[in-house]
Amino acid sequence: MTKRIAIIGAGISGLTTIKQCLVDDLIPICFEQNSFIGGIWRYEDVYEKNNDPYPSVYKGVLTNTSKEMTTFSDFPIPVDWPTYLNHSLVEKYINMYAEHFNLLPHIKFNTAVLNISILPDKRWKVKYIIQCENEEKDEVFDFVIVCTGKHRKPKWPEFKGMNLFKAIDFEDKRVLVVGCANSAMDIAVELTHAASQVYLSIRREKLPWIIPRFINGKAHDHSPSRFSAYMIPPFIRGKILENNIIKPFSFPPNLMPNEPLITSLPVINFEVFQCLTAGTVIVKSDIKELKSENNLIEFVDGTILENIDVVIYSTGYDIEYPFLENHIFTGGDEIVQEFEKDFYNLIWLYKSMFPPKYPNIAFIGLTLAVGANLPISEMQARYITSHIKGLIKPFPSQYEMEKSIRNNYEKVRKNSCKHARNAIRQNYLSYMDNLSKDIGCYPYSYEIIKKFGFRFWQLIMFGIATPIQYRLLGRDSWEGAKEVILLYNKDNFNHIVRSSK
Ligand SMILES: Cc1cc2nc3c(=O)[nH]c(=O)nc-3n(C[C@H](O)[C@H](O)[C@H](O)COP(=O)(O)OP(=O)(O)OC[C@H]3O[C@@H](n4cnc5c(N)ncnc54)[C@H](O)[C@@H]3O)c2cc1C
Repeated sequence: MTKRIAIIGAGISGLTTIKQCLVDDLIPICFEQNSFIGGIWRYEDVYEKNNDPYPSVYKGVLTNTSKEMTTFSDFPIPVDWPTYLNHSLVEKYINMYAEHFNLLPHIKFNTAVLNISILPDKRWKVKYIIQCENEEKDEVFDFVIVCTGKHRKPKWPEFKGMNLFKAIDFEDKRVLVVGCANSAMDIAVELTHAASQVYLSIRREKLPWIIPRFINGKAHDHSPSRFSAYMIPPFIRGKILENNIIKPFSFPPNLMPNEPLITSLPVINFEVFQCLTAGTVIVKSDIKELKSENNLIEFVDGTILENIDVVIYSTGYDIEYPFLENHIFTGGDEIVQEFEKDFYNLIWLYKSMFPPKYPNIAFIGLTLAVGANLPISEMQARYITSHIKGLIKPFPSQYEMEKSIRNNYEKVRKNSCKHARNAIRQNYLSYMDNLSKDIGCYPYSYEIIKKFGFRFWQLIMFGIATPIQYRLLGRDSWEGAKEVILLYNKDNFNHIVRSSK
């Protein structure tokens, strides 16, 4: 009998999962609490009557991954779109994807999942509420795929006096942004156009590595190529990049990062260099205390700022699934105690998707890589439906799955500096490649040369490692893949592209 699959959430992860279920002849039923698709990519202005909207990206956001690397693998982001997309273009692309693959009929909108629980026969009961009916219902599914994202629960720091500052508008105000990852830097830069002065409070002593969107005229993620990713040791690649960044964009010397770039989680930004040099963004240390008297903020290095009007916390998110018992994805108290000292965002999932103790449930989107999220969610969806259909090797024993999770943690511990020990961290290319080998769509050199010729193989090895490469071979291959790879590489490898046609 065809299996019924519950998919929770219709952001990019849920949409690509619906699509993959349809391809693999499974019945997807997607629950989405909002009345629209796209999850955090659907932006809405905050105004009087809408002062607590759903979580979304901010207005000035620009993708930090290029379109060639961000695209779904069989539905290319149009070649004539800009290299980096604003939120409207990402939203447009998501809508085009949903329309092209006719995904909307499989979504129950305005329907929030309240609870899921496993039944003795290992199927899952999903309890949900349709918002306008206000009545709780439940249904049983063969498999549940959780696609509710990792940006739901804000992670607040704890400072004395935090409650003393209230959010107001930013025009001509003195604003302190707390945090130093991508969003904090983006927001600090954007505020310089409205605020009278922007400060950035960072917990560590130095800035993180900051990579401009373009390096030597190329999008930063157009390299490493597949060849250099595997043939040049990461440490050397990191050093080359450090030198490329340091030379054209000087960091303030006292804030120069002191950890190797390759072990850190770099920020992708360019404008922040200009703001730091111009003094429109001034870096401060960690906050010690906030005081109402003179709107004063005291920092741990003993310095003080007065008359601060607004404080913005850009301090990340905690992973949370309110409809699910925590131990299902964290592995339980013992595991948490063992790893919480050294890691944050603890999850205990085989291949970052499957809880070893619980069958018939999987999570999508719980990875953090220096690379795009859309193709990772897509690859995970392909992997999960292949697993449900029995098209890939069965999973090993619970013991072996847990050993594999431990090995991954060890890898993160060994390869990442302390600030970057996020338990969901993955190396983009090796994670994608490993999954693609299991499901049979890895672009093996021999097969590529046999099917497409030597010239084209050069683009696979030395060109952009776009996810479209995972549609050249295997049961889900797509006949348009070659053409798009040629187009995406045209600017950098025109001589090869011309002779590969
Ligand atoms: C500022 C910012 C910039 C980013 N830039 C990039 C970039 O440049 N490139 C890139 O690849 N990625 C980027 N990302 C990351 C990325 O694209 C997101 O992580 C991705 O969109 C997550 O999609 P998702 O579907 O997993 O989750 P979400 O988009 O969060 O969607 C989850 C969906 O689940 C629904 N939901 C939640 N709970 C329930 C429930 N109980 N019942 C029913 N429905 C529920 C929500 O309403 C939502 O629609 C960025 C993220 C942020 C925040």
